[in-house]
Amino acid sequence: MISEENTNIENFNPREIESTSDREMEKLVRPQEFSDFAGQDKVVENLKVFVKAAKMRGESLDHTLLFGPPGLGKTTLANIISNELGVDMKVTSGPILDKPGDLAGLLTSLEAGDVLFIDEIHRLPKIVEEYLYSAMEDFRIDIMIDKGPGARSVQITLNPFTLVGATTRSGLLSSPLRARFGINCHLEYYNTETLQNIVKRSAKILDIDIDDQASKEIACRSRGTPRIANSLLRRVRDFAQVKGNGDINLEITRYSLDALNIDKRGLDMMDNKILSTIIHKFKGGPVGLTTIATAVGEDAGTIEEVYEPFLIQEGFLRRTPRGREVTEISYKHLGISPYKDYSLF
Ligand code: ADP
Repeated sequence: MISEENTNIENFNPREIESTSDREMEKLVRPQEFSDFAGQDKVVENLKVFVKAAKMRGESLDHTLLFGPPGLGKTTLANIISNELGVDMKVTSGPILDKPGDLAGLLTSLEAGDVLFIDEIHRLPKIVEEYLYSAMEDFRIDIMIDKGPGARSVQITLNPFTLVGATTRSGLLSSPLRARFGINCHLEYYNTETLQNIVKRSAKILDIDIDDQASKEIACRSRGTPRIANSLLRRVRDFAQVKGNGDINLEITRYSLDALNIDKRGLDMMDNKILSTIIHKFKGGPVGLTTIATAVGEDAGTIEEVYEPFLIQEGFLRRTPRGREVTEISYKHLGISPYKDYSLF
């Protein structure tokens, strides 16, 4: 029985981690070993071989580039790689490293075989990126000693290490940087079955009672993304506690997801806004990315790396040489006739 009070959460964004307790829960459910990591079979199988071979030879693993949309498990995989190698991992991100000196400090602190994880590696400043080249290739860096006229550069040999880079925009990576990664892994959106298993596993760890239909419903509406699946599970639990009797069944799940404005195909408000804007303002397209971004009030980069890949994969949107175009699936999904001229309204 669901209590009647209206609960419509306009600005819920399942891509964001909402609170400290969410962050703590995320830590609890993050897989620590390959055997806990669901899906991405090919990537995982290959990584297992490379990790095992590196361990057998007593060498550091080749530098590894992970790319794919946010929330698909890049950070998780980097963590698993370091756990499976039995080494420590230092974590940083492209935009944080704004001077070569910051990077030098991190590199010199690495022990033999350690992993350095750089998230959003496509956002490294050029000067830092170039500094990374010799570190990756020869495990050497030049550092400046003293300032002014007495300044001189000294070469330092680093311990062999593995750089694991994560990026949502592989197209933005320069070719010299890309060429220095020996292992490239492309993460794909997850299918419903795998996401359902992830939801069930997280529910078990967090001691949440959820039935099969409910875990499937959450999986279907998670945009192929484990982070969103986990986030929806936590929010549905809140609804179940406050509006129901604590158990998570199909009824309370549907009620919660509707209140969160997550529709039947897993699209949220911004996804639907992008599609309806292209239809209503631009006759279904083709229309340029920056024009769409201005019309919906969202950053063009975010649309390109977060929203668009899923909409394209699910067949709602097409990329053409003249811009983005909605498909018939979008008209059907939004209950709009493709034959009406919406520019007149
Ligand atoms: P990214 O770095 O790609 O943005 P994360 O590695 O931070 O994504 O993953 C987000 C969350 O999703 C993690 O906390 C983890 O719990 C969960 N997750 C991601 N991939 C998997 C997976 N394959 N199996 C189980 N949980 C996963």
